[in-house]
Amino acid sequence: MVERMIHPTPRLRFAPSPTGPLHLGGARTAMYNWAAARAMGGTFLLRIEDTDQARSTDASLQIILLGLRWLGIDWDEGPEKGGDFGPYFQMQRLQLYKHAGDRLLASGHAYWCYCTPDEIEAGREVMKAEKTGFFGYNGRCRNLEKAQRDAFIAQGRQPNLRFKMPEARVLNVHDMIRGDVEVNTKELDDWVMLRPDGVPLYNFACVIDDIGMKITHVVRGEEHFLNGIKQRLLFEALDAECPKYAHIPLILNKEGKKLSKRDADTNMLDYRDKGFLPEAVFNYIALLGWGFSGDRDLFTREEMIAVFKLENIGKAGSKFDDEKLKWMGGEYVRRLSAPTCLDRARPWLAGVVPETAWATHRAWLANIVACYQERVAILSEFAGKLSWLFAELPEFDEAAQKNLTKEPAAKDWLRGYADVLAASSLPPSWPADRTAADGAVPLPTKKDGPVPVCAFSTPQQIEQECRAFTERIGVKFGNFVHPVRAALTGTDKGPGLFDVLFLLGKEACVRRLRAAADR
Ligand code: GLU
Repeated sequence: MVERMIHPTPRLRFAPSPTGPLHLGGARTAMYNWAAARAMGGTFLLRIEDTDQARSTDASLQIILLGLRWLGIDWDEGPEKGGDFGPYFQMQRLQLYKHAGDRLLASGHAYWCYCTPDEIEAGREVMKAEKTGFFGYNGRCRNLEKAQRDAFIAQGRQPNLRFKMPEARVLNVHDMIRGDVEVNTKELDDWVMLRPDGVPLYNFACVIDDIGMKITHVVRGEEHFLNGIKQRLLFEALDAECPKYAHIPLILNKEGKKLSKRDADTNMLDYRDKGFLPEAVFNYIALLGWGFSGDRDLFTREEMIAVFKLENIGKAGSKFDDEKLKWMGGEYVRRLSAPTCLDRARPWLAGVVPETAWATHRAWLANIVACYQERVAILSEFAGKLSWLFAELPEFDEAAQKNLTKEPAAKDWLRGYADVLAASSLPPSWPADRTAADGAVPLPTKKDGPVPVCAFSTPQQIEQECRAFTERIGVKFGNFVHPVRAALTGTDKGPGLFDVLFLLGKEACVRRLRAAADR
C-alpha cells in the first residue's frame, strides 16, 4: 500500500468512555498519547466515546477530565476546548456514521443483518457442536435472497449493519510496540457496525472518527489489539490511510496477573484525595511501561516530553508496586521548598493548624513542615504529625508512657529542666508572635553551620544548654532525652529534640514538662 499522509503534523487522541472514573490504565494511555504528541510537536485531543448510553454519565466525564487535569495532562481539542475536527462526543456524530454506513453498503463492504439475538446464539451452538473452532456470527445474512430480506422486513425486524470481513486473509501488520505480527482474518467474524437505532459500535465509530479527526498514531491498551485488526480492514474498505498503532502491554499486579481494583486505587482522584502529589503519581505512572533512562526514576513532565518515543515503550507488562509509588511520593514531598510544601499541604491541615496561624505564623509553620518533609510520603500525613504542637498537652502513646516511667528520677529531671527553660531565651510559644525567631533560624538544624544571631535561643544553643544541664545533674545525655521527648511530644518519634523545643516554644515546653512530671 502506498503511504499517504494523514496530516502534516502528528495528531493523537485519548478516547475514554465516560462510564466510570479515570483508572490507572486509562491515565497511562492518556499520558503516553499526550507525551508522544508533545514530543513530536503534534496535537493531543480528547474524544468522548459515549455510545454506551446506559452507562455513560456526565459525572464520569467530569471525573475523567478532573483526573487528567490533576495529573497535568492537557488537551488541545475536545470537551471544553472545541477544535476544527469536532464534534468530540460520539453521540453528536451519528450523522457521520450513517453516511459511512451507506457508503460501505454501496461498495459491498457491509450488509444488513436481520438475525435476532436468539438466532445468533443458536448459530453459535451449531458451530460449537460442529467443532469448527469458530464461535462468532455465522454470516447467515451475508448473502440474503431478496425474497428472504423482504420477508424479514415484513416481520418488522430491525437490522444491524455488519462489516463484511474478507474471508481467510493473512494480514501482516506492524505495531510500534509489538513489531510485525501475522493475523488470519478467518478468526474474526462479520462484526456489527451500526445498531438499528443508528448508534454505532466501538470499532466502527472509532475508525470513522480516527479518519475524521485525522489521527496519525493510536496508542491504547493491548486489549484492543484484535480490534485494531478489524479496524485496519475498515480503513482499507474506506480507502483511508490507517494510523500507526501502538498497543501497550497490561499493567500487572505483584503476582503478575492483570491489575484489578483490589490491587490499586484505580481512580486517579483517590490518589489526589489521599494526599499524593500529582507530579509524583504522574512520574510513577509514566514508569509503568516506559523508562526515562536506565539509572533514573525521577523526572518531570517536561523532561519526559523531551525524550519520549513510542518505540521505547516496553513489550512486557509492568507490575504496579504500591511501595514504589509511596517511595516516589516521599521523594517529591522532599523536593518541595518548605513554604511550597506548606501551601500544598494546607488543605490537609484544616482543623489541625488554627486558621489565624496562616496569616501570622507562616515562617513558623514552614519550619514545622520542613522538620517532617523527610518523614512523609503523602501530604495528608502532615496532619497527624503536627497535631501535637497545637494541643494544650500531648496525648501519650505507649512508647512515651514507657519512656516517662522507666527512670524513677525522670520526674526530677523534667522539673529541673522546666526551670532551666523557664529562665532561658527559648522563643515564645504559639500563638505569641515569634517572627524574630523564625526569620533568623533555618530548620532543620544544621549542626555545624553558623549559629545565627537571634533574640531567642536557636536549636543549637538549646542543645548546648541542655548538655550543660545534664552534666550539672550528673545524668547521661542519652538517658535524659527520652523522657523529655515523651513529655513534650507524647511519642518517641519526630524531628530532632532541639527542633521540637524550638518549634514548641517556652511556655508550652515548661507546661508540658511540669505536667508530665506531675502525672
Ligand atoms: N473507548 C475505548 C476505550 O476506552 C477507546 C479505545 C481506543 O483508544 O481506540 O477503551
